[in-house]
Amino acid sequence: MIWRGIIERYKDYLPVSPKTPVVTLNEGNTPLIFSETLSQRLDVLVYLKYEGLNPTGSFKDRGMTMAISKAREEGAKAVICASTGNTSASAAAYAAKAGLKCVVLIPNGAIALGKLGQALIHNAQVLALDGNFDEALSMVKQISSQYPVKLVNSLNPYRIEGQKTGAFEICDQLGKKAPEFHAIPVGNAGNITAYWKGYKEYFGKKEVASKPVMLGFQAEGAAPIVNKKIVPEPKTIATAINIGNPASWKAAEAARDESGGVIDSVTDGEILSAYELLAKKDGVFVEPASAASVAGILKLSGQDYFKNKKGATIVCVLTGHGLKDPDRALQTVREPQRVPAKLEAIWEAIKL
Ligand SMILES: *Cc1c(COP(=O)(O)O)cnc(C)c1O
Repeated sequence: MIWRGIIERYKDYLPVSPKTPVVTLNEGNTPLIFSETLSQRLDVLVYLKYEGLNPTGSFKDRGMTMAISKAREEGAKAVICASTGNTSASAAAYAAKAGLKCVVLIPNGAIALGKLGQALIHNAQVLALDGNFDEALSMVKQISSQYPVKLVNSLNPYRIEGQKTGAFEICDQLGKKAPEFHAIPVGNAGNITAYWKGYKEYFGKKEVASKPVMLGFQAEGAAPIVNKKIVPEPKTIATAINIGNPASWKAAEAARDESGGVIDSVTDGEILSAYELLAKKDGVFVEPASAASVAGILKLSGQDYFKNKKGATIVCVLTGHGLKDPDRALQTVREPQRVPAKLEAIWEAIKL
């Protein structure tokens, strides 16, 4: 079967009709990769849902195909969002395809290079705010309530609807089975909300016989849900989750509590170790925020959380591609060694 994106595949579960003008870049259908390294370390079966392989390099595309298709159906001429980077990249691409004007508000100087390049090349109007993400979100909420421009942040319910298809895909890829545990980075908390909604719906329709325990991970410097307190000035190298007042805070807590799960925090050091481990041992390059899910299960494993769970399946969502943030990669490694154009010198350098 030819893949035509998540709306075509899962339309029975989505608020669309034959009249909906579907705007798709064939998002979804991302690989679920078995991790030998992590499975050995944790003594459970660990799979990586590599969402960095979506068309614009992050899971945001699942929600954006819905939000932009519905914006077109409703006759919108322009869309707007606040973004730590990936929402703007995705909105810009889908708006370009739909022929809609796209305005994005980003915290000045705080988004990764690749994401900024994407928003600009897709011809979005990029406004760099003297303020952080939470302030940018508050601004676009007010603007979209007063002017004829559609908000495409995850407060837009169609975003959550599209993103829940990640849960359907995981269950389908595991052979109509939900994993025992689902680990995921938490920023604005839309995605954990969406996955939990997806798992509940698949369970409700008897596609699967169980639901996973939800494990959400915030960065220590941006962990309002963990600390039960708004963080006025969040700070983490994982820019995609550098959020101090998540829009879906309550829904994330509900996902945690209904599933019997946890929302915990991981340090930037733990995030970077997981980031390097994924690249060096699994051959999977993600952006730092994505590594929070893996950092999180390594942390829980260190506290014996998965004791007696041998044979259980954990799925870690890897939310975005490593090429989004090339600066971070280059800061993490050594510079290439220079060699003269001489065979002996190259042989000497290789040191087999
Ligand atoms: C948006 C994003 C997140 C956070 O998702 P929320 O829905 O805001 O919790 C995590 N990682 C990456 C790469 C993202 O782009």
